[in-house]
Amino acid sequence: MASAPTEQVNLEAKSPFEMRVRLGEQVPDMDVRAALKTGDLGFLHSFTTGSAVDGPGIRLVAWTTACMFRCQYCHNPDTWTLSNGIPVPLDKAIEEIRKYAAGLKAMHGGFTLSGGEPLMQDRFASRLFAAAKVMGVHTAIETNGYYGDRMSDDELRNIDLVILDMKAFNLEQHKRVTGGMDNAEVLTFARRLAALKRPMWVRYVLVPGLTDIPEEMADLARFVASLGVVERVEILPFHQLGQYKWERLGLDYKLDATEPPSNELVAAAVSIFRNAGLAAD
Ligand code: SF4
Repeated sequence: MASAPTEQVNLEAKSPFEMRVRLGEQVPDMDVRAALKTGDLGFLHSFTTGSAVDGPGIRLVAWTTACMFRCQYCHNPDTWTLSNGIPVPLDKAIEEIRKYAAGLKAMHGGFTLSGGEPLMQDRFASRLFAAAKVMGVHTAIETNGYYGDRMSDDELRNIDLVILDMKAFNLEQHKRVTGGMDNAEVLTFARRLAALKRPMWVRYVLVPGLTDIPEEMADLARFVASLGVVERVEILPFHQLGQYKWERLGLDYKLDATEPPSNELVAAAVSIFRNAGLAAD
């Protein structure tokens, strides 16, 4: 297996908005395939510490690379490609969690795996969560849910909170937002989490002209409420912090002219979810 260049690249970043590309390109394909199968090696954009927004309390967050969606509003398109990430041996990633474990517990926080889409590296994710649970650290995953079926029920029980990024309820809208991806898998995963009584948060990005459709949000809210395990719905106002990444990667960004939603629009979206009986903010 090729050695990981973690000595040259700082694993920690101030935020996921740092642009990182081609850091894992030297890992041979054969080793990438083996890593995905075993989870011995993960590909990470970075670790960030002190997050107060990626789950309860203060969190250590590991940002994975690779995603199967192509959301129009994605603010980290450099995380779409696995080989943009730093190859990090599993034991080194576990060591990072161990370094902060006592502090995270004291601050009622924990460890969150986000991305990119963490379940693109499901074996790495599963082993990381198992190790964190042995340390007694609260665990959370932020996922689009598309590969939820890659995790067994027992593996899901090692995740204390699933933060499910829901892009849309209706198929055509989901395809429009994500670059043509289906959402039956996402809905199935959400229902399965509900059947297992796993605590969930749901996130919805509010983009004027793209996702601010009242009927769509009402349909999604009804579905989310029907699950019975969703503790919180977060409406995330669209922003332009990732715009420069699209430009530098030469990608076709369709939201150049889109403004962040007004406070009134955010309040209206929050009301739709609250009207369905959900705790939304
Ligand atoms: S699922 Fe997340 S990481 Fe993937 S394209 Fe959408 S916003 Fe970006």
